[in-house]
Amino acid sequence: AALPGGSAFPTRARMDTSALGEPLLRVRGLSKSYPSRRRFFGASNELQVLHAVDLDIHRGETLALVGESGSGKSTLGRCVLNLTPASGGSVTFDGIDVLNARGVQRQWLRQRMQVVFQDPFASLNPRMRVGDAIEEVMLVHGIARGARARDRVAELLELVGLDVQAASRRPHAFSGGQRQRLAIARALALEPELLVADEAVSALDATVRAQVVTLLARLSEQLGLSMLFITHDLGLARHFADRVAVMQGGGIVESGDAESVLNAPQHAYTAALLAAEP
Ligand code: ADP
Ligand code: MG
Repeated sequence: AALPGGSAFPTRARMDTSALGEPLLRVRGLSKSYPSRRRFFGASNELQVLHAVDLDIHRGETLALVGESGSGKSTLGRCVLNLTPASGGSVTFDGIDVLNARGVQRQWLRQRMQVVFQDPFASLNPRMRVGDAIEEVMLVHGIARGARARDRVAELLELVGLDVQAASRRPHAFSGGQRQRLAIARALALEPELLVADEAVSALDATVRAQVVTLLARLSEQLGLSMLFITHDLGLARHFADRVAVMQGGGIVESGDAESVLNAPQHAYTAALLAAEP
């Protein structure tokens, strides 16, 4: 299949994760039900969106979570981040029980797992200058303050390919791709070990998407960042992920290294997704 952006995408040396030991993120039997919007009709007043999901992400590894819209990818991402309470199962991050973490541990997790959404304004305050917003989040988490924080802002902007002057502007002054770079910089300001990217490049046009994906791939290598890369775009998964997990109707139907899953799918649903690729 032809790939959007073609050769502009990075081709990564894939990791052999078989000998890496304990995963950074371990999800077991994760389930999630939402209260039905039609609770009026009694009997089935819950919508089960995740069904006993198992998932591992090792350090430095990028896992692409693929599947059609509505399959539960975002819900899984939000449960992992504890932004939405799970209904059952467990999530362990670096040995910490995510779903039951309180106090210091909860704060610690909020720093070490960061997220970039499709909408950059989910994490960028439109009223604040970019530099101030990043300084503030570093201050709140005790990462840096004052001159050290300002230096760090400059470093982060450079890291994501923006110039220092960006710090004194507000998010509206930037293009879509630049805003995603800012959202990435803000996430990196907290020195996370895991970055969840939920359709982070999906709203961008092909050329810009390729540039931002290239940035994410570079950051994952340069910083050893682990990534949960949520996308409905198999082309992106193919060129970017070490491993792929395929989600259908709230369950993982297949997972494995990107090459095998996408070149020799074992599950009919994966094959159908691949066949439907543009
Ligand atoms: P994806 O990210 O794969 O598109 P989602 O996790 O957003 O899937 O959605 C999975 C299912 O859960 C969909 O049927 C969606 O309508 C439902 N859903 C998502 N969020 C909520 C919510 N807050 N309340 C009720 N149902 C929801
Ligand atoms: Mg989604």
